[in-house]
Amino acid sequence: MHECCAVAGVYAPDEDVARLTFFALFALQHRGQESAGIATADGKKLQVHADMGLVSQVFDEDSLSQLSGNIAIGHTRYSTRGSSRKINSQPIVVGEGTNSIAIAHNGNIVNAENLHQGLSDHGYTFNTSTDTEVIANLILSSSEKDWVDRIRYAMRRLQGAYSMTILTNDRLFGVRDPFGVRPLCLGSINGGWVIASESCALDHIGADFIREIEPGEIVSIGADGVKEYREDSARKALCIFEYIYFARPDSTINGRLLYPARQAMGAGLAEEYPVDADLVMGVPDSATAASVGYSHRSDIPLAEGLMKNRYVGRTFIEPDQRIRDLGVKLKFNPLPQVLDGQRLVLVDDSIVRGTTTPHVIKMLRKAGAKEVHMRICAPPIRYPCFFGVDMATRGELIAAQKTIPEIRDFIGADSLGYLSIDGLIKAVALPRDIFCLACFTGDYPIPVQIEMDKLALESTVSDQQLPFNIRQR
Ligand code: SF4
Repeated sequence: MHECCAVAGVYAPDEDVARLTFFALFALQHRGQESAGIATADGKKLQVHADMGLVSQVFDEDSLSQLSGNIAIGHTRYSTRGSSRKINSQPIVVGEGTNSIAIAHNGNIVNAENLHQGLSDHGYTFNTSTDTEVIANLILSSSEKDWVDRIRYAMRRLQGAYSMTILTNDRLFGVRDPFGVRPLCLGSINGGWVIASESCALDHIGADFIREIEPGEIVSIGADGVKEYREDSARKALCIFEYIYFARPDSTINGRLLYPARQAMGAGLAEEYPVDADLVMGVPDSATAASVGYSHRSDIPLAEGLMKNRYVGRTFIEPDQRIRDLGVKLKFNPLPQVLDGQRLVLVDDSIVRGTTTPHVIKMLRKAGAKEVHMRICAPPIRYPCFFGVDMATRGELIAAQKTIPEIRDFIGADSLGYLSIDGLIKAVALPRDIFCLACFTGDYPIPVQIEMDKLALESTVSDQQLPFNIRQR
C-alpha cells in the first residue's frame, strides 16, 4: 500500500529556498519515490525543475543553483497505473506571466473527471493526466482578482483530498481540504516560513513547528507576513493510515507523536490477542514501533530476525525473471540464528491483498521458526480507498473476500489477530470522529461518491471499468 505524495514550501527572503526545499523533500521521501520537483519564484517569474527518480537523483548542485528566488515549493510523487511519466511530475506550472501558478498536491480529487470536462468545454487545455492540473486550471478559471478568492473558488468545486502548496510570483500558499484527509503543517525558519506534509521535514531543516494547517484552511505567505483564512469544516476525515503506516514515526500529527501511537497499537494487539510465544518481531520498518509495544505489554522479548534492504526504493530497472522470482528475498533476509526453533509473534502494519505475507511467513519457517503468530495494527481492510491511496479494488482486498480464519490459513500463520477499530482509536488517543476509517467500515465521508462506490464495490469490476478519477492516482 502506498501513499501518493509529499508537498513542501518555503518563503524565506534571506535563505537558499531551493536548497531548504530539497532537504525538506529529502525528509519526506518515504511518501513518494517516483518523481521529485521544485519550483521557485523570484517576484517576476516561476522556474521549475522536476524529473523521475528520488530527490537525490533528480537534483544536483547545478540544478539547485539555477532555481533562484525567495519562495519555493516542492513535491515527491508516488503514482499508480500508467501515469508514471515525467510529464506528470510536480510541481505543475500553469498560466502565463502574473497569471501563472505552480502547484504541488497530495491527495486525490474524486470529481476530477467532471471538472476536467467542464474546463475543457471552456477552452482549457491539459498537458498532463493528473487531477493536479485540473485544480490549477480551476484556480486560474476564477474571475476573482485576489489569489485567496481564486483558491476559494476552486475549493468550493473540488471534492476529495488535497493538501497543497501553491506558488505565485510573490506568494506561497498552503491549502488543506475541508476534510483534512492528508496532513499539512506550518513552521518558521530564520524569519521565514515553511509548509510541509509532515513535521519531520521541519526538524530536518532546522525549522520550528508552529501548528497544523487546519482542514479547510488557506495560509497565504508574502512580504506582509502570514495571513490565515479558515472556513468551518463540517466533517473531518484525516486518513488513519497516516498513524498506522504512512507518516514517519518521528512526525507529530494533531499533537500526537507517531512513534508512541504505534507502540500503543502493539500494546493493544497484545491485550486483544495474547499468545504463548518466545519472541516478538516487527516486519521492518513500519511495524518496528508496534512490535516494541507488543513486547513491553506481553513481556515477550523483542528480536530482530528479519533484515530489510532499506535502500530498495522504486527502481526503473526491470528485473529479469530470475531476479523477479526472488520476490520478497530482494527486500528481506531472515536470520536463522535468531529464528531457529522459536515461537514468533510477527507484527505488521496491515494486510491489503495478502500477496506478500505468505512469502514472509514461509521465509521465517524455512529459517527455523517453529510457530508464527501474525498480529496486524490495522483492522481488516474490506473497502477500497478513493482518496489517493494505491490500495486495490474490492475484489483484490483479501479481507473483502475471505474470513479471518481463511486468511490465517491462506497466509500460513498459526494464528492471526487484527487490532479492532476501538483498539486503534484508543492507541491513537484522539477523537474517532476526526478520522476517515472508510477502508474498514465502508463509510465514505463524501456522499457524491455513491455512484463510484457502487461500481468499485462490485468485486467483479476491473480497474479499466472504474471511473477516470479512481484510476487516476
Ligand atoms: S479509505 Fe482508508 S486509506 Fe483511504 S483515506 Fe480513508 S482511512 Fe485512509
